[in-house]
Order: sequence, then C-alpha cells, then structure tokens
Amino acid sequence: MTITPDDVIGGVDRDEFVVHYQPVVRLSDGAIVGNEALVRWQRPGHGLLMPDAFLPQAEACDAIRHVDDAVMRCALRDFASGRLDGDEVSVNCSASSVDAGLPGRVADALTATGMTAGCLVVEVTEQVTLRSTPVTDAAIAELCAMGVRVAMDDFGAGASRLSTLIDIPYARLKLDKGLVGQLVGHHAPRARLVVNAINELAAGMGVAVVGEGVETCAHVQALWDEDVPLAQGYLYGRPAPVGAVSPRNICAMA
Ligand code: C2E
Ligand code: CA
Ligand code: CA
Repeated sequence: MTITPDDVIGGVDRDEFVVHYQPVVRLSDGAIVGNEALVRWQRPGHGLLMPDAFLPQAEACDAIRHVDDAVMRCALRDFASGRLDGDEVSVNCSASSVDAGLPGRVADALTATGMTAGCLVVEVTEQVTLRSTPVTDAAIAELCAMGVRVAMDDFGAGASRLSTLIDIPYARLKLDKGLVGQLVGHHAPRARLVVNAINELAAGMGVAVVGEGVETCAHVQALWDEDVPLAQGYLYGRPAPVGAVSPRNICAMA
C-alpha cells in the first residue's frame, strides 16, 4: 500500500484518524494515573490501520506533524470531557514533530481545549535525543518550562543514551516492553539488576518509571519487586476507544 503525504494530510482533514487509549496504573494502590493516546487510521476502503502501517510513511514526509497535532487535540478534548480516568493524558510525539513550533502548537491545543499543561504528558523516543539539535533541545526545554511533562519512551531498547537524562528534565521514563519481558525470561536475574539500577537512578532524579508491555502477573510482580512504580499493558487493558476503555486485573500491591 503506497501512502503519500497528501493521503495523510487528507486523512487528518477528513477526521479519519481515531484515538484509542490505554491506562497507566500505579502498582502500589492500583489507581489509574492516566491514559496513553494511540493513533489508528480509519481509512475508507482499508479498514482500521495500526500505526506501523502508516507512521513510517507519515514520518518520512513530515505529515506526521499533522497527525500528532490532531491526536493531541483529540486526547485533550477527551480528557476535558471527563471520560478518561486519572490526572493526565499522554500523547506520542515523533522526532520530526519536535521542532521550534512544537511549544506553540501545544499551547494552542491547551488553550483550544481549556486544559492546563499539568495534565499533558508528551512521550518522545530516543530518536529525539539522537537527532538532538539546539532547536529540538530548546523546544523540549520550553515544553518543560510550560509545565508539560515529558516522558522518554522505549527506554532500554535501541540506543537509549543515559546522558539524555542529564540534558532533559524528564518526568517519566517508560521501560521498553522488551526489557519488561526479560524480567521473567532466561536472563531474569540480570534483567532485574538492570531494571533495578534504572529505577534507582530515575527515582533519585525524581523521574517515575513506567513498565510497558505488562501482560502477566509475573511481569507485575517483577516490576513491583524492583520498586518500579507504574505499569501499562494488555493485562490491564488493550487500547480502546474513549467510551470503551475498561481496565481490568488491577489490584493494589502494597
Ligand atoms: P508505544 O508508544 O511504545 O506504544 C505502545 C505500543 O505497545 C502500542 O502499540 C500498544 O498497543 C502496544 N502495547 C500495549 N500494551 C502491550 C502489551 O502488553 N503487549 C504488547 N505486545 N504490546 C502492547 P500501537 O498502538 O500499535 O503503537 C505502536 C507505536 O506507534 C507506539 O509505540 C508509538 O511509538 C507509535 N504511535 C502510536 N500513536 C502515535 C501517535 O499519535 N503519534 C506518534 N508519533 N506515534 C504514535
Ligand atoms: Ca508511547
Ligand atoms: Ca513504548
């Protein structure tokens, strides 16, 4: 399937992109702290497309900025409507969306939805730090100064650099699901040491760690054993449309 920039921008204009939400859970008391917004494309003639079917193309042509902005506005609107649990809503931001205009676009979305910066978490991946320039650094710093919380996504996968924790005052560090899976795999003892060290480092910096890809109670127990405070995954709920988010299997660990 060939997807052009015009297809993506047209899809945004026609409101074909829809947002599903997945809860983020606090392990100690089982509270839902917020939801992550995950985009899908309801493309006529093609069904519901998952991100891996269109994000690479959208990123390659910079049309991703239109998608990310539309998702942010939708997520803030849904949060403002009171139909999402928790105190915050997270959105993903591609490296190519992080530019000098990002703080202004976020400010506009907050104003348009009547929300304050404190309810928004912007998730960025290591690509942002790998492509770091004075412009991208300044954009992230401005978001933080506005009171928006920035999360490092997929930490522990790829080429995550520890120095990014020095450069950017992250509020969240999301442990990649591969790393969470290793907590109960063949090399579990070593994986636990790694996760424990990451968590200690993050906690010392006031950064809350989220374990992603939590599918089993064994994952939950392993994260809890290593003092990781937050978790997200199919065990608690698959991403679903706003009215259909129905978290399950949530219990207090403390
Ligand atoms: P991500 O930000 O790391 O989001 C988590 C992905 O893992 C989601 O896939 C989610 O459905 C899936 N997932 C959640 N829990 C589990 C689990 O327990 N097990 C497994 N195996 N997977 C789980 P999804 O929705 O297909 O999104 C894939 C990626 O697409 C996201 O990874 C994110 O990088 C990107 N993405 C999604 N929405 C947006 C968006 O609005 N803007 C941008 N720029 N990227 C987005
Ligand atoms: Ca994410
Ligand atoms: Ca992730």
